[in-house]
Amino acid sequence: MLRRQHIQGFIVAVFFFCPLFIFAQAPSIADLERQIEERQQRYAEKLKQAEALEAKILLLENNELDYAARLAQARKNFEVRAPTRDIADKVCNALAQEWMQSKFDGMQLYKPCMVRVKVGQIVAAGATTFSFADGKAYGFDMTVQGSLESILDSIVPHEATHIFNALDVGRPLPRWADEGVATLAENESERKRQLALAQEVNGTNRFIPLRDLLDITEYPKNMSHVLTLYAEGASLSDFLVGNASTASGKQWTREEARQWMVAFMQNGYVKGWDAALYNLSKTKEKPLGSITNVAQLHNAFTQWLKRKDIEPYVFKITPTDSGKNTILPVNYFDEEKNIVVPAY
Ligand SMILES: [Zn+2]
Repeated sequence: MLRRQHIQGFIVAVFFFCPLFIFAQAPSIADLERQIEERQQRYAEKLKQAEALEAKILLLENNELDYAARLAQARKNFEVRAPTRDIADKVCNALAQEWMQSKFDGMQLYKPCMVRVKVGQIVAAGATTFSFADGKAYGFDMTVQGSLESILDSIVPHEATHIFNALDVGRPLPRWADEGVATLAENESERKRQLALAQEVNGTNRFIPLRDLLDITEYPKNMSHVLTLYAEGASLSDFLVGNASTASGKQWTREEARQWMVAFMQNGYVKGWDAALYNLSKTKEKPLGSITNVAQLHNAFTQWLKRKDIEPYVFKITPTDSGKNTILPVNYFDEEKNIVVPAY
């Protein structure tokens, strides 16, 4: 039990010290007002941050929606027949993404390109056929085969490039350029392989002189000549794009490089290669430096091939590439029933 004097002492202590305590701790009206103001400021800042985050989320959602809508639109250009729905979906997506990165994004083919897919341990290959009438390409039909990985990262971009070139030019293109530009779209190891082969034949009688190469419109009958044409076409395209983009002072996307090559081909077609090269040397940019004719281009190209350190040109990645893993349903061809099953 507390003794009386202790209770008294406690009361005295409370009596004497409490006013002091209250006096020391009690905030003034001005203090309270300041605290309220500070809190209001903090809340206002937090609100601002929240609003900014909300706007960011909305933008991302809109971008995603926009991307999905564009992808769905681009996919309508392809009618894919594949062993499974999943494979059809992936191939159609890969083609649509190529479409979105081209200048044809937003445009629609009159009739979708039929795409037949064979997946397995078979040699990776592709072919696209089409016709021309009145300077326009139509009736696209594509076959792609190989492992699913090689189909998606090399064959599809290659074959899609043939479609873009045909749509752009509306007539048959020189083989070296059409195949060369299409090969630029393939994966790095394939492009390195083509460079190595061009280096290997350079200086031998297998090498096709540029004077002949530039004008070849059909595939050679001899298979080893076909391989040389591909290797030289791909390497020459790499050489031209590398020089021209360096002269322009910026790294190009694949589509920018393709468009430059198409313009180069058009000039060669209309004026002849010597005149086309001469005209380029007279431009302010001089995309190929002092090269003014085919003989000089041949020399510069073969000298370049002799270098040990040549690498495929590295393209700038476009924002569309970042959405590559988006998978959406796609129309599917049922082989058994022989009907197209719409995904939606
Ligand atoms: Zn090809």
